Amino acid sequence: MSAMRDDEAHPEELEEEVRRLRERIAQLEAAELARRQVEEKFRGLLESAPDGLAIINAQGAIVLVNSQTERLFGYSREELLGQPVELLVPERLRGRHQLQRQRFFAEPTARPMGSQLELHGQRKDGREFPVEISLTPLQTETEGMLVTATIREISERKRAESELRRAEARYRTLVEQIPAVTFMAALDEGNNELYVSPQIEALLGFSQREWLENPILWHSQLHPEDRERWNVEFAPTCGTGTPFRSVYRFLARDGRVVWVHGEAKLVRDEAGRPSFLQGVAFDITGMKEAEMDLMALNQTLEQRVAERTREAEERAQQLAQSNAELEQFAYVASHDLQEPLRAVASFARLLARRCHDQLDDNGRDYIERIVGGAVRMQTLITDLLTYSRVGRQGQGFAMTDSAGVFADVCGNLRVAVEESGAQLTADPLPMVWADRTELVQLLQNLIGNALKFRSDQPLRIHIGCHQDGDRWLFSVRDNGIGIDPKYGEKIFLIFQRLHSRAKYPGTGIGLAICKKIVERHGGRIWVESTPNHGSTFHFTLSDEPEN
Ligand code: ADP
Repeated sequence: MSAMRDDEAHPEELEEEVRRLRERIAQLEAAELARRQVEEKFRGLLESAPDGLAIINAQGAIVLVNSQTERLFGYSREELLGQPVELLVPERLRGRHQLQRQRFFAEPTARPMGSQLELHGQRKDGREFPVEISLTPLQTETEGMLVTATIREISERKRAESELRRAEARYRTLVEQIPAVTFMAALDEGNNELYVSPQIEALLGFSQREWLENPILWHSQLHPEDRERWNVEFAPTCGTGTPFRSVYRFLARDGRVVWVHGEAKLVRDEAGRPSFLQGVAFDITGMKEAEMDLMALNQTLEQRVAERTREAEERAQQLAQSNAELEQFAYVASHDLQEPLRAVASFARLLARRCHDQLDDNGRDYIERIVGGAVRMQTLITDLLTYSRVGRQGQGFAMTDSAGVFADVCGNLRVAVEESGAQLTADPLPMVWADRTELVQLLQNLIGNALKFRSDQPLRIHIGCHQDGDRWLFSVRDNGIGIDPKYGEKIFLIFQRLHSRAKYPGTGIGLAICKKIVERHGGRIWVESTPNHGSTFHFTLSDEPEN
């Protein structure tokens, strides 16, 4: 028909036909252009998405992908289009995936990112990788139901997550291995525990779970006597954030008292707002017990020392008392003995004189011995009296010029010194705190002994003196017969002598008096000597009154 019409067509009609066709072509071209523009926009949109995109039809065939998907899975667009989407799923999961896909198309609902747990994609080279996929159903007129899948590669995130988990495990191990309890507590009314490390069980016998499940356990286990103090001390930590640091007691499950050194601080969030409390508690029971044992020991020791001191003081007092009594007795005895003794001596002498002719030689010898004995006893008694008078008849203590004392002694002993031909010298002598009379007695006894116990060497006596801290150290050195060191102590005892009276006269009281005088002055006296090479007597005196 159209051929017939062509044959019969008029040129106007033909022209009209051509015009219509041209219009049609122009319309088609415009439509094509518009379509291309839309497609370009659409593609631009697809490509600008950060994730891989794939559109799948109801048969599970891929109808569209963006370049991110190509890159992600290692396939080119041509290799993917028209292929079942399972191509992108690991082989072991493909069966399951197909079922899930069919179920989804039967009941399509949007499924956002993160709503699936673990999903895996498979690259062209077979490598698997973790993905997250969101699905959006799309009803089209021409192609029916389509699904847009957004595919996000999450290896990096997974790695970060597992790194985080590993780090967390490391920190947890660290926290749970240290020999202390760590804890976190909320900042609410009761400071409820958010975390406590499992060491709590070793510390107090409650498991980590029990501790966390019972929000008041930590408070009820605080030692009743420490609760109030703890509340007071802890308040500023919650309030102003001052770090908490204190020692307090807990009661363990079995009632044991556990000493704890606790430290806690306030942790703030990034904006500086108080967030929670974090702290650590150390068991210091062992240390505390040792400390308490030590304190008890100290107390016992102190008590014992006090007792001993008291006993010593009592003994010293008793000793002083009995010494005083003895001195009194010696004084009285020697004083009172003198009288009858004088009577014995004088009547014996009278008897010797008057009855000289009536007595035979034996009788005369006996009487002579009686007289000798009485005289000796008199000397002893006089010495004893002198000894017991030390401290009774002195002038009292005063700053005393020892050089003057030495000069007096030289005067007193002038004859003896001259007779012996002794060379008597002295260092410069100081002022000392002393009883002058007694100091004369002391020096005279020592120099007297040096004169008495001389050897056949020309005698040299030297009085030395030098300062030693807050005291003066005196020495009286001679080059006489010397003393065997084993008698170094004995010679200071009353009536102790080393020689017969025939050789060296004396009663053995001189050094006992010296010792008594020096000790009254708070000093010490001792001798250093080498037999046959002389002796040095040392004594100390104070340079100022004693407190
Ligand atoms: P006495 O001089 O009466 O014997 P002392 O008490 O003064 O008593 O001395 C006791 C003893 O110490 C003396 O008998 C003597 O043996 C010894 N002695 C004292 N001074 C000296 C001295 N300078 N050299 C050697 N021996 C001494």
